[in-house]
Amino acid sequence: IKRDPHEGEFIQAVSEVVHSLEAVLSKNPQFVHVLERLLEPERVIMFRVPWVDDKGEMHVNRGFRVQFNQALGPYKGGLRFHPGVNLSVMKFLGLEQTLKNGVTSLNLGGAMGGSDFEPKGKSDNEMMRFCQSFMEELYRHIGPNQDTPCGDIGVGTREIGYLFGQYRRLTSQYESLLTCKSPPWGGSQLRPEATGYGLVYFAKEVLADLDKDLKGLRCVVSGSGKVAMYALEKLIAFGAIPVSISDSRGCIIDEDGFDFAKLSHLRDIKNHRKSLREYTKTHSRAKYIDDGKPWGVKCDMAFPCASQNELNHSDAMALVNAGCKIVVEGANMPCTTDALEVFRKSKIVYAPGKAANAGGVVISGLEMVQHSGRIQWSADEIDSKLQEVMKEIYLKCKKAANEFGIGLGSPESLVHGANIAAFLRVARAMLEQGCV
Ligand code: NDP
Repeated sequence: IKRDPHEGEFIQAVSEVVHSLEAVLSKNPQFVHVLERLLEPERVIMFRVPWVDDKGEMHVNRGFRVQFNQALGPYKGGLRFHPGVNLSVMKFLGLEQTLKNGVTSLNLGGAMGGSDFEPKGKSDNEMMRFCQSFMEELYRHIGPNQDTPCGDIGVGTREIGYLFGQYRRLTSQYESLLTCKSPPWGGSQLRPEATGYGLVYFAKEVLADLDKDLKGLRCVVSGSGKVAMYALEKLIAFGAIPVSISDSRGCIIDEDGFDFAKLSHLRDIKNHRKSLREYTKTHSRAKYIDDGKPWGVKCDMAFPCASQNELNHSDAMALVNAGCKIVVEGANMPCTTDALEVFRKSKIVYAPGKAANAGGVVISGLEMVQHSGRIQWSADEIDSKLQEVMKEIYLKCKKAANEFGIGLGSPESLVHGANIAAFLRVARAMLEQGCV
């Protein structure tokens, strides 16, 4: 806090982790200095990204890559293109990614990068020129054994394609480093779906321990990007009743619940970059709330899948009053600290993003194996691996919490369990590798 007093998101993420580790540090004082080192990113790279729009006008954005921790393997983590990107956001996401990768069994370190570039309203050519300029600098700092970026907000298969093309042109190497690629040239089946599907598999594990099932449960979902839409798809497949989605302009509430036909209509609206309001033209019972959030709608479970700090204290109160019993985070750190306090007091079971949304990085890990081996596994093979791994992650969180006396009865057990399991894995590797 003394070093980075203005980095609000980073301080928030650090505070949550430190709170979870109190019991670990008091029993294992040798880890105090490891934590101090772990909270300092290994390297921060900031660079200029100049690009020319379709009218010939010159622009400049700021590029970032925060290489947070390499103790478990090559840095791995997303690239985000969004005007809200700054160093604090990059550092919090780098720390979250380090711990997320730690809670899996992958040998991958943690990183995050991106730019304050606004992708909305850009043509394909503008997007390509921006990605090429971004890679013009980034390529010096990445490689299959060094740092292997993937997608995040504003970076999907199209952007990864342009980035990969430029990396290949600059290096003459067809290497296994960027993930979220298109399957015909090195991508993995089910990578776009993996975070959303994995989130719902994780939710199933949480419910099974409470003797419940997704079938018939009303779910509120925020966001309408990669994570939200595939979570919605899987919720419908399991017989749950998802009743909302949202975007940066507003939200749609359909009290009758979405089905596959409605989901396909929603996708069409988003793919054509139209307002979600369009949905009410064909579904007159649905409601569009301009600038609104879905948290006041009667529900059993909530899946915040848009962005950090989208769910604040009053949203949390609204969720509690709407009957919500379980919150499973699809986005990274979507709940503010005071929202979490409301969940704690109201005994809402809360599953943190660093465990529940780890399905994406797990399949990115499998994408790297497939790319370097020039092989491709089927969607069914990937899906059964994803289910297996999400269960493993859930059990790991539960076990770590139990070992430190935090039983499943505590609404915070999964967040503490995830932080403890991840920290111990990364910290042991750091201790064994000496003071580096
Ligand atoms: P996308 O860019 O595909 O979608 C983001 C969605 O969130 C869009 O619908 C966007 O609205 C909406 N959104 C963004 N900011 C806000 C805001 N402030 N208020 C309301 N809605 C907002 O991103 P992803 O789905 O890939 O990522 C979503 C979250 O999941 C992020 O936190 C990301 O870090 C996390 N995540 C993603 C993974 C992945 O594999 N993609 C893996 C693990 C975590 P609009 O359409 O109007 O822009």
